[in-house]
Amino acid sequence: MLILGRQGAGKGTQATRLAALCAVPHISTGDMLRAAVRDGTPLGQRAKQIMDAGDLVPDDVMIGIVDDRLHEPDAGRGWILDGFPRTVGQAQALADITARQPLDVVVELVVPNEVVIERISSRRTCDGCATVYSADDEAIADGVCPKCGGTPRQRDDDRPEAIRKRLEVYESDTAPLVDHYRGLGLLETVDGLGSTDEVFARVLAVVDARTSAGRPEGVGSAGPAVSSP
Ligand code: ADP
Repeated sequence: MLILGRQGAGKGTQATRLAALCAVPHISTGDMLRAAVRDGTPLGQRAKQIMDAGDLVPDDVMIGIVDDRLHEPDAGRGWILDGFPRTVGQAQALADITARQPLDVVVELVVPNEVVIERISSRRTCDGCATVYSADDEAIADGVCPKCGGTPRQRDDDRPEAIRKRLEVYESDTAPLVDHYRGLGLLETVDGLGSTDEVFARVLAVVDARTSAGRPEGVGSAGPAVSSP
């Protein structure tokens, strides 16, 4: 499945939880690029400036990365893609890549602009394990990530100028994908306001309804159903 939504809508948070429940990988292109930047790879060196400016990494680069990732063994029984596709060109490439394992559902998380701007400015991302926290979260009051000992920091592209640019790019390049997937009958729109638990319950309900369609009667429901093989 795919998870779509503007920056700060909660895609990463919800995708991480859902992936754990379904025992499939959460594939976040943003996390992959940030890991490349951290490791100083040629991709990371090329991507850093583009990301910090709030622009998109070129389609051909991203398509190559995702194509490779979706062919890794752990992606064989499903995946949750977060951050890709981000352009119509990427969506077309994804359709080719996944021709033999087509999408079950595309979840669009909807959160208004004013709310995401507020959320992003207080977002802190661990430089070790990429866990996302809010700046006022007591768990990181000592400046240390309780999961890995890394340091939660503000992403360079979470600063106000880059946020503005990224939201503009979302409207111009990525928002058209909502209509694209609606036209294909794959879109489920979910209200992204409320606590992460409330949003997760909504996400689970639509994913379960889609993925249980072919399941024999009486087999599973809600949570466990999506995690059964
Ligand atoms: P957000 O959704 O909050 O913008 P991400 O972590 O998904 O954050 O992405 C961060 C940055 O990585 C993007 O602003 C962009 O520069 C780059 N990026 C990630 N995914 C893609 C993609 N599919 N195509 C182009 N650039 C991408």
